[in-house]
Amino acid sequence: DFDHVVEALLNTSVDLDSLEPDSVLEERWIKEVVTRSGMKFRWAKLSECRERPNRDVHRRPPPDPSSLVPRPPVVTIMGHVDHGKTTLLDSLRKSQIVSTEAGGITQHIGAFLVQLPTGEKITFLDTPGHAAFSSMRARGANATDIIILVVAADDGIMNQTIESIQHAKKAGVPIIVAVNKCDKLQADPQRVKRELLAHDVVCEEFGGDVQAIHISALKGDNLLALTEATVTLAEILELKAEPTGAVEGLIIESRTDKGKGPVTTVIVQRGTLKRGCVLVAGNTWAKVRFLFDENGRAVTEAGPSSAVEVVGWKELPPAGEVVLGVESEQRAREAVDWRTYEEEQQKLQEEQSVIELKQKVHLDEYRKERAELAHLSWRQRKSALYRANKSKFSVRPSERTQLDHPSLPLIVKGDVDGSVEAILNILDSYDAQQQCELKVVHFGIGDVSENDVNMADTFAGSVYGFNVGANSSVRQLASKRGVPLRLHNIIYKLIDELKDELSSKLPPVV
Ligand code: GDP
Repeated sequence: DFDHVVEALLNTSVDLDSLEPDSVLEERWIKEVVTRSGMKFRWAKLSECRERPNRDVHRRPPPDPSSLVPRPPVVTIMGHVDHGKTTLLDSLRKSQIVSTEAGGITQHIGAFLVQLPTGEKITFLDTPGHAAFSSMRARGANATDIIILVVAADDGIMNQTIESIQHAKKAGVPIIVAVNKCDKLQADPQRVKRELLAHDVVCEEFGGDVQAIHISALKGDNLLALTEATVTLAEILELKAEPTGAVEGLIIESRTDKGKGPVTTVIVQRGTLKRGCVLVAGNTWAKVRFLFDENGRAVTEAGPSSAVEVVGWKELPPAGEVVLGVESEQRAREAVDWRTYEEEQQKLQEEQSVIELKQKVHLDEYRKERAELAHLSWRQRKSALYRANKSKFSVRPSERTQLDHPSLPLIVKGDVDGSVEAILNILDSYDAQQQCELKVVHFGIGDVSENDVNMADTFAGSVYGFNVGANSSVRQLASKRGVPLRLHNIIYKLIDELKDELSSKLPPVV
């Protein structure tokens, strides 16, 4: 009975999302239907997508310049391993912890805010390494306005220093050089700046526009100068954003929290993110339940260039995804359905192209095989042609023979080239008699294989082997399929048997 009801429900087109238990519908039915229908329901939604126009959401067109307000820079710290990136981030973060304020526990959310004594703000991304940066670039998204390139003054330019410079150039992001470890005796900041010249990073003292600040991340020396240089550069860049309208941003980190569920850190790029907002990212959506800052404090909103932890995702979207605010949950569901549909379509297309590629490889192999036959005698080539024309055997020859004049499809295997050729020559002379058509569908050197048996089965033919064997699995296959397997070591015996088989196919003489 339970199964009956569930089955019936599954076959209706009701929106399962809207099913509510009531006096008629028992909750256990709905639960079962929802769990069982996962796939089915999704497919129903996908086919619905096919019918309706593109309901995806996109970034909005550029804003009216009059609606723009200045925003803080978003900074990424890059550089060679062990040159002090982590130490610098730690020191910058520590410089912000106000001793009077209790309760705030610094959390790693992928970004933090630094406020200068003069009030300016900087958002530092502390997503380590180049990976996050690259994955965002790959998606055409860039969350970074300025790169602080950390170079250890006792070590100089290294591989990853050069890589970082290349990243910055490709992304069109300006650099500030932090010449680190200047507290060390071996430190040689001048050398660092000279070496940078070779990579087109021209510091101010060489007449360029790249600021270089000598710091000690470990001791916290000159960090204020570094942040001031960052603010100066930000002013030159005239960084601005629109604080109103639908929110747009980027996910810089995503993780599943034991208590909060799927959690992402979002860098707001446009608009203001608020509790209750509905967001779409990748193939999922969120109704924002909570926003947290890097000190674990709940905030009610986050404007451009700020990073906040967002709680309320249905599923976890990956880092690097674009986040877009939409007007309703309904709209979010539509967009997610559409994206899922498109992804599904793309997957299908990819699978199709893999199949096509495989077919092409097949065809190429086949052409190659034919080219290899070019050196064979004309008789052998003629036999090979049978193979090329296999398609005309698409009607099973066993059915054809009843209509056409008799024919004997053959697979010929021999131990060496010469023996195969000899057999083909003899067959050719019989062929000339025209009484029974001989079709050599395949010939080759070596033991009889399962493939040979399969081919003989397809063409309702026989396998003739000269001085070759067939292993037990091949023999079993042949007897199972009723394929005659005729193996000989003496050529005239082979020919005799073949003659017998041929005459058995001929109409009885009257
Ligand atoms: P990262 O790999 O670039 O993140 O480098 P780390 O921040 O882990 O630093 C590597 C090592 O250099 C650590 O042992 C740090 O203590 C040390 N270090 C970092 N900055 C300074 C500095 O300004 N002065 C000195 N003397 N050591 C530093």
